[in-house]
Amino acid sequence: MFEEIYSPVQKIDAAPFSNLFVKRDDLIDPYISGNKWRKLKYILQKAKASSKTHLVTFGGAYSNHLVATAAAAARSGFKATAFVRGEEVKNEMLLICSLYGMELIFVDRERYKNKAELYADYFGSNSAAYFINEGGASAEAVMGCSEIITELTATYDHIFVAAGTGTTAAGLSKGIEEQGLKTKLHVVPVLKGGSFIADEISLYTEISNHLILHTDYHFGGYAKTTPELLAFIKRFTRETGILIDPVYTAKMFYSIFDLCAQNQIHSTDRILAIHTGGLLGLLGMKEKF
Ligand SMILES: *Cc1c(COP(=O)(O)O)cnc(C)c1O
Repeated sequence: MFEEIYSPVQKIDAAPFSNLFVKRDDLIDPYISGNKWRKLKYILQKAKASSKTHLVTFGGAYSNHLVATAAAAARSGFKATAFVRGEEVKNEMLLICSLYGMELIFVDRERYKNKAELYADYFGSNSAAYFINEGGASAEAVMGCSEIITELTATYDHIFVAAGTGTTAAGLSKGIEEQGLKTKLHVVPVLKGGSFIADEISLYTEISNHLILHTDYHFGGYAKTTPELLAFIKRFTRETGILIDPVYTAKMFYSIFDLCAQNQIHSTDRILAIHTGGLLGLLGMKEKF
């Protein structure tokens, strides 16, 4: 399932830009979406190579990573279990996880914090089990995400990406470094206090001067939004025909327009936005619109 993908680079018409392109990783798969596909590719390969048959991972009740892991597990012949943060709930995303056969174990926020301990308690003696960190953060994930860069057939002045853990950004940074590109990598953390992303990236690759962290586009924090961001989503989607999600990609796209308005980038620059997918995230925010 990880052989062939459809992720074209599309030019979009959005004033004032004349060279704005989108890498459509959102089109790779509706459920193993965007960067989650990139991250899981080598994780599942490693699990298989180590004869593991049961994926165990972690996430919130609206985690794109859980849906992606559930779908990838079902299609690749793995069992899957997820520890879900917080009290037991039902929602669209967990429904999809369950339909794919993922076992859900709800744990309170305190217990959720110690993932190694949770794993040891439930799966410590299960030699078929394979630990996948929250969001898939790992060297394998970084390697998978670096392939976004090797797939490109043109060069860009700027590449933009949203960051949660920073693993995807680390992969892009590594890819840019390895290819010796002059491209600036603009990373937009979606959490408050996003400067920790630099530490995360430095776990996997050296921080080089192509990296620019924009920590002021969190709109109040993770999964928080504002009327301005919601209005931006509606306008952008109507004008470009490309859906974006409020948790990640909307904050990244917003930053491109805002940085241009501030003259930090220019409307004629060659800009590539990575659409990391995650559109099911809209379901978690449906009351806000
Ligand atoms: C998970 C996710 C991200 C964040 O990726 P990290 O590697 O954790 O930084 C970005 N965009 C979307 C749509 C996601 O689902």
